[in-house]
Amino acid sequence: MTKIIEADYVVAGAGGVGMAFVDEIITHSDASVAIIDRKHRPGGHWNDAYPFVRLHQTSTCYGVNSTDMGGHGIDQVGLNKGCYELASGSEVVAYFDTVMRKRFLPSGRVQYFPLCEYNKSDDTAVSLTCGEKYEFRARKKFVDATYLNVTVPSQRDPDFEVKDGVRAVAVNELPKVITEHRNFVIVGSGKTGMDAVLFLLTNRVDPERITWVMPSDAWMFSRFDVNPGRKFSDPITQYAIGVLQCALDAKDYDDYFARLVERNLVMQLDPAVKPKRWRCATFTPMELEQLRRVKNIVRKGYLEAASSTVMKMSNGTHPTPAGAVFVDCAADGLPKVPMVKVFNGHRITLQTVRMCQQVYSAGFIGNVECNVHASEARKNELTQPVPLPYTDADYLRCAIQNSLNMAIWLTEPAVVKWINESRIDLFSPYLDFDSPEGIANIRAMGDLIQKAVPKMQALLESRRESAAAELADA
Ligand SMILES: Cc1cc2nc3c(=O)[nH]c(=O)nc-3n(C[C@H](O)[C@H](O)[C@H](O)COP(=O)(O)OP(=O)(O)OC[C@H]3O[C@@H](n4cnc5c(N)ncnc54)[C@H](O)[C@@H]3O)c2cc1C
Repeated sequence: MTKIIEADYVVAGAGGVGMAFVDEIITHSDASVAIIDRKHRPGGHWNDAYPFVRLHQTSTCYGVNSTDMGGHGIDQVGLNKGCYELASGSEVVAYFDTVMRKRFLPSGRVQYFPLCEYNKSDDTAVSLTCGEKYEFRARKKFVDATYLNVTVPSQRDPDFEVKDGVRAVAVNELPKVITEHRNFVIVGSGKTGMDAVLFLLTNRVDPERITWVMPSDAWMFSRFDVNPGRKFSDPITQYAIGVLQCALDAKDYDDYFARLVERNLVMQLDPAVKPKRWRCATFTPMELEQLRRVKNIVRKGYLEAASSTVMKMSNGTHPTPAGAVFVDCAADGLPKVPMVKVFNGHRITLQTVRMCQQVYSAGFIGNVECNVHASEARKNELTQPVPLPYTDADYLRCAIQNSLNMAIWLTEPAVVKWINESRIDLFSPYLDFDSPEGIANIRAMGDLIQKAVPKMQALLESRRESAAAELADA
């Protein structure tokens, strides 16, 4: 028999995004919530993460708004020295578990359905342990907190063929196999691949023993630039201003990116190799210096097959180092998904409304749901999805929408209030509408956005005119 479960909000997904949204509902309303997840505890992909993963943005601004994650100290040792602390994966999992057990469930307003598979097409779920079936009814809204479809390497098989006699492991296994192999082939150029290389190097594996398969180099952000700060003079706001000024000064599309490099707003692994990908990853100069110690970098496209003697790549072959283990770091953490309206009748689809800040975005949308008493059109105007950056053109699209969102947020008092009070906002300078200095700062920022966005749009248009360039981006 199917059990009927009613709640004001029915939320599919108890990852960071679902948790941040629900937290706002609990804070700003007296509504009830049902949360469904196929995992046994909240935290989503963090439950499957590799053991040495850490946040790459400071803990002080991660998670749900109501509950501090800690990490307010500045690291005094290690490769993150000088930046705010970064929680480890297990700390993140413990954090979300605590939020569920100590805040959500005791509120008496949250029903939690772990180990249940949700079916979006008919809003039913089935228990993965006992087979019990549920039909969910939302008095207010159904909320999709699974749409971003985060994937980490341990959640799927490697997408290269592993020939007989070769050992390939997900990055999660690296600490176990580190003592068993002469050589390591790190497959993947994203944040996970970089973390794996840093893990090997900090555990005194000679860089000569590391081969790094890098389908495409990625731009990186300096963590010092995105350290939280709520004053206009803080580096993170100066960073945002820099991105806009580069657009205003740029002679053409290529010149825009050249200026980002010139102003150190982005970093690259090898100054001689221009990155083609964007991945939202942050690094310290010390981490970059370590990564640069690895010289065996294979830039021949994607790994298609690994044998004990040769690696077949999409653009050629490369010898397999003797006794090597292949370490799969290649999952596309945040795959490209089409952007859809956040608010659509009886449904909310949680997406990114601030560049590279998924969890923050979910909290933001939760606040709009509760505190902006306006039409659906207005709510959507305030929550335009910001595309994830993959290519240069994507980065521009992302910067444009991010800037437009910043500008429109200033027009909504309930949003300004939330931003000013929000623990998870690492980015916005304090929006002070009461002092002449505050008003001048807000005006200056608004003017800059108004001038820079049309220029960014023109730069993007000039790129679109070249069909070949678009193809290269695809
Ligand atoms: C390695 C890594 C490091 C990151 N570091 C940072 C960082 O430092 N700072 C930052 O801001 N962002 C970071 N991110 C970005 C990431 O978007 C956020 O960390 C966030 O945790 C993602 O949460 P989510 O809820 O969208 O996805 P998930 O964590 O994947 O959660 C989705 C949940 O939905 C459940 N689910 C899906 N489908 C169903 C279904 N049909 N039925 C039932 N349950 C279902 C899943 O089981 C899962 O628990 C990182 C991402 C990765 C991969």
